[in-house]
Amino acid sequence: MIIIMKPHAPDESIQKVAHLIEENGLTVHLSKGEEVTIIGVVGDKTRLAGKNLELIPGVDRIVPVTESYKLSNLKFHPSPSVIQVGSTEIGPNNLTIMAGPCAIESREQLLTIARGVKKAGATILRGGAYKPRTSPYSFQGLEEEGLKYMKEASEETGLMTICEVISAASLETAVNYVDMIQIGARNMQNFQLLREAGRAGLPVLLKRGLSATIEEWLNAAEYIMAEGNPNVVLCERGIRTYETSTRNTLDISAVPVLKSKTHLPVIVDPSHASGVRAYVAPLAKSAVACGADGLMIEVHNNPACALSDGPQSLTLEQFQELTQKLAPYCELEGRKFS
Ligand code: PEP
Ligand code: MN
Repeated sequence: MIIIMKPHAPDESIQKVAHLIEENGLTVHLSKGEEVTIIGVVGDKTRLAGKNLELIPGVDRIVPVTESYKLSNLKFHPSPSVIQVGSTEIGPNNLTIMAGPCAIESREQLLTIARGVKKAGATILRGGAYKPRTSPYSFQGLEEEGLKYMKEASEETGLMTICEVISAASLETAVNYVDMIQIGARNMQNFQLLREAGRAGLPVLLKRGLSATIEEWLNAAEYIMAEGNPNVVLCERGIRTYETSTRNTLDISAVPVLKSKTHLPVIVDPSHASGVRAYVAPLAKSAVACGADGLMIEVHNNPACALSDGPQSLTLEQFQELTQKLAPYCELEGRKFS
């Protein structure tokens, strides 16, 4: 439940409410707005039965939160969150562009792509060092060697970096090299990994599971946040449907739906959603028009020879052309580009 305080309620009233909640073994999450403070309560609320919270001076009203996700819930935190990723941020003011290869293949490949995407306006370099491939015989990633190239690319270009982790061990290694952790679609409900990501001390990009509902996805975010990490960004990357002309079906409606349910930033990955290079640009534009806070786009210096996801990867020239075209869309949405 949430306790909505009266406008400009004094600090003593807020403290009194918070104290009563904690005294009964529940956790308090304060959201202080300019006028109104909202006190979110997590835990077994039957323990507050008969405590007459609404009679404490300064309390305006008590609203039950019926959804199972609390910390990610918009009711707990009614203004959109801004998530800091190193020196850049993801939130309502700008459009964050994450771009890079599906997989880090070599030092030269990554540095070439990093320089190109930086020039085109990306602020975060993506690149997989641990690849969750459908076939065990496909390229599985360079692991720590790849992460070292990420660090070097970041130092040279000033780009922030993101890499997917697929296990506790890969997470433990990755935190030493990158600025943001990615939990991929296949691991969205790996609850142990979500908890570990919640303790890792870095912001987390949580991709939507292949067949996950929005509610399941928000509950997955809750696992990370419940460990004390509020820095979660959601990424719509297409869901599995009966349609076969694209790799997945981009659920563009997820963007406004999420905006009505959560304060967490939402980005869109048109590359994995479509699986087809030619569809990436139109889907990227639709994402901006729908209110997405960012995009994740696969880019390769030589897609024909890519070790993973070549058919959906933009060339550096195509990526540059796309970012130029996105600028007016950002303006219409009142966002700064990148
Ligand atoms: C990726 O971003 O490299 C990836 C594997 O994406 P997803 O988890 O969305 O399939
Ligand atoms: Mn990929």
